[in-house]
Amino acid sequence: MTYASAVSEIYGDLIRECVACRAERISYWRQKNYQYTDSANRKEFHIYRCESCGTGFLNRPPHSQWLQEIYQYSGQALTKPITLEEVLAREVEFPNCTVDAERMSRQANRLNSSGNRRGLDIGSGFGFYTQALKKAGYQTVSINPGKYENDVFRKLNDDEPVAVMFENYQPTEPFGVVVMSQVLEHLLEPDQAISKVAGLLATGGVLACAVPNYNSFLVKLLGTKDNACLWVPEHVNYFTDKGLKALLERNGLRVVKTEQITRVPFNALSKRLSLTGKAAAVVDSLVKSLQAPFANVMHYFGLGIYINVYAVKK
Ligand SMILES: [Zn+2]
Repeated sequence: MTYASAVSEIYGDLIRECVACRAERISYWRQKNYQYTDSANRKEFHIYRCESCGTGFLNRPPHSQWLQEIYQYSGQALTKPITLEEVLAREVEFPNCTVDAERMSRQANRLNSSGNRRGLDIGSGFGFYTQALKKAGYQTVSINPGKYENDVFRKLNDDEPVAVMFENYQPTEPFGVVVMSQVLEHLLEPDQAISKVAGLLATGGVLACAVPNYNSFLVKLLGTKDNACLWVPEHVNYFTDKGLKALLERNGLRVVKTEQITRVPFNALSKRLSLTGKAAAVVDSLVKSLQAPFANVMHYFGLGIYINVYAVKK
């Protein structure tokens, strides 16, 4: 079956209010096209922007059925198996998920005043967040539909993720910590998801949430060529810290901490300049030493690549 014949290619409903803060003043921002293969037709997507909180979103977005079909080829659902060794080797070269998972679990645990030691990892991926929650002393439940990711997860955690989409998950007991890393930007109905999360948290429990920043310097610099935040159409929402806060607080959560994260692979610049040998080594070490001060300046102006938010259930 070819890609073209597999895809239903239906757009979802027209969106009339901001997906984050529900303001009705939204306006057209830019167009970004999606093309899976050279032979496939280009599909047009329009990005709208909220004039109140600045959050962006696809309008109209792909229909959920279309989005699910895209995920069979791309995105979180890997198209071929990957081994735990390969995943760990990537982490050794560019420590990323492990660092984020440990920081977010530590912070969430510190802010959790519910006394509840159960942790829920929504979109658990390879399992680094579950691993970090376990290390922090939590009894975990992990949800992830991706088969190849779950194969790695089992080896890393010696545990079984629940292979369902979050909307189909039916929990019986509350949680003290819920982690959603790189999930909300994929959801067609982020408001429903957050409302469900709020219902799952014990009073005083914490949601730790990470999303790409629509205000990042990458989006300002590259416009729609940016693929960290504006990865169309897998990402359907492009949050700002203001929009994310509005979404969480509307659903009975109180934002207690927000931080930005910026990490650029140290060899990104030398690769882009096609440098090798000594020249590459010099540029790489320069990038390494400038990375922290650069990130600090970006974060000061709210231009970091990712937003991390911690919100407490009232
Ligand atoms: Zn808004």
